[in-house]
Amino acid sequence: MDQTVLKVNNLQTHFTSDSGVVKAVDGVSFEVSKGETLGIVGESGSGKSVTSLSIMRLLKDTPGHIAGGEILYEGRDLVKISENEMRKIRGNEIAMIFQEPMTSLNPVFKIGRQLEEAIILHLKMSKKQARVRSIEMLTAVGISRPDKIVHEFPHQLSGGMRQRVMIAMAMACNPKVLIADEPTTALDVTIQAQILDLMRNLTKTTDTAILLITHDLGVVAEMCDRVVVMYGGRAVEESDVLSIFANPKHPYTQGLLASIPKIGERVERLQSIPGNVPIPSRMPEGCKFAPRCPHAMDICWEKEPEFKEVLVKHSVRCWLHEEVHQDESELAGSTQHKKVFSDKEKAVQ
Ligand code: SF4
Repeated sequence: MDQTVLKVNNLQTHFTSDSGVVKAVDGVSFEVSKGETLGIVGESGSGKSVTSLSIMRLLKDTPGHIAGGEILYEGRDLVKISENEMRKIRGNEIAMIFQEPMTSLNPVFKIGRQLEEAIILHLKMSKKQARVRSIEMLTAVGISRPDKIVHEFPHQLSGGMRQRVMIAMAMACNPKVLIADEPTTALDVTIQAQILDLMRNLTKTTDTAILLITHDLGVVAEMCDRVVVMYGGRAVEESDVLSIFANPKHPYTQGLLASIPKIGERVERLQSIPGNVPIPSRMPEGCKFAPRCPHAMDICWEKEPEFKEVLVKHSVRCWLHEEVHQDESELAGSTQHKKVFSDKEKAVQ
């Protein structure tokens, strides 16, 4: 039986700026099934957060719009439904938590009122039932004095407590999909571990699918079943989490992994990927990663590789791996290219 809850097909989200149209998300596809956690990883500017805002259709306060593709939720295309229909899905069937809970919590209303309003709106409960449900949810997220906390304002709580309240609010309506955008980035390491634990337990018991947007591969290792690595608005690698960590194929993924410390390994300095994600209006013609890639070849500057499956359920967008699967003559622009290719291929195997 098909367990897919959310399927994104060739999503294109464009922003209009003074310098023209910027393709913040450029043809990204993925799907997530019931109870599964899919990580979307990349540096800032990779398009991962714009992807999540596009799914929630929360672009109206930005210069961005969905220019193409499909976002299929239980068979319905969220790109095409009316704002009214979307409002019924948003927060109810697809919920979102942000890095900074104050983005979503209203500083002038008490916690109880904010939770109850969300529950009354989406679950059509009475005020009394909503209060009971609020207390239940605060207890479920490990808040020890829920009957007191409902009378407090967001600023009276610590960052970790506010994030727990956000999770309680997001999970109160039993969403089928939870989008968590850097949910623990603003928290210290101990609280981060508690929040991740909490999300994992809550979603496993409810079979909620999670889309976890993060730049932190440690969080991915902890939480995710599968990962999509994004760069320059494109998906550059997708695989299950074990394969990505054991056998990363894309030089960008390899760079990200090399920049995290490993237990038991003493190093003077952690490696970093040189340079920055190019500004979207100045993306290179060919592979978007070419200016930072230690393996860039002539063809990388000229033509962008396709996103192809190179191992079972392991796809990558890189000429180093593309050539393994196609007739060499298609790529053989020059003998120099062939030589560089074989050298570089060896280097990443
Ligand atoms: Fe590097 Fe070329 Fe692969 Fe891009 S296509 S990641 S530049 S080797």
